[in-house]
Amino acid sequence: MDIKVGDILQLKKQHPCGSKEWEVLRVGADFRLKCMGCGHQIMIPRRQAEKNVKNVKSASNSAASNSV
Ligand SMILES: [Zn+2]
Repeated sequence: MDIKVGDILQLKKQHPCGSKEWEVLRVGADFRLKCMGCGHQIMIPRRQAEKNVKNVKSASNSAASNSV
């Protein structure tokens, strides 16, 4: 699964705020995700993230200045 910074992940489980969409702030061994609904940030292991992802919306290339 190809997940990059700036992508929007749609998870199977929804956040208590009602949003299922999370913005990817950081990738690596752990992902840092920000809830699109309330702005809450979490860190979860990559494996767990990939297991819970239902859909990935790639960031538009305008915003993706991936120089990592
Ligand atoms: Zn939320």
